[in-house]
Amino acid sequence: MTGDGDREDVPLTRPNGCRWCGLEEREHYRRWKPPIGWHHWVVPTDDQRKQRMRERRERVTDTPEDASGFLLCG
Ligand SMILES: [Zn+2]
Repeated sequence: MTGDGDREDVPLTRPNGCRWCGLEEREHYRRWKPPIGWHHWVVPTDDQRKQRMRERRERVTDTPEDASGFLLCG
């Protein structure tokens, strides 16, 4: 019971992100991530994709879309 906690602002992992670090192929290049160390983008497993998609779904359901209708002129 902590009342309104602060919302996690961590970007979601793309379903097609790297198997080790979750980064997309186009922005990956080389990354260092334990325990693998330096690595190139590796295709994620089916299980990883499924889990990431599920996480996205849960997060999206929780996000209100009320910031779309603002148009400031002048
Ligand atoms: Zn990676």
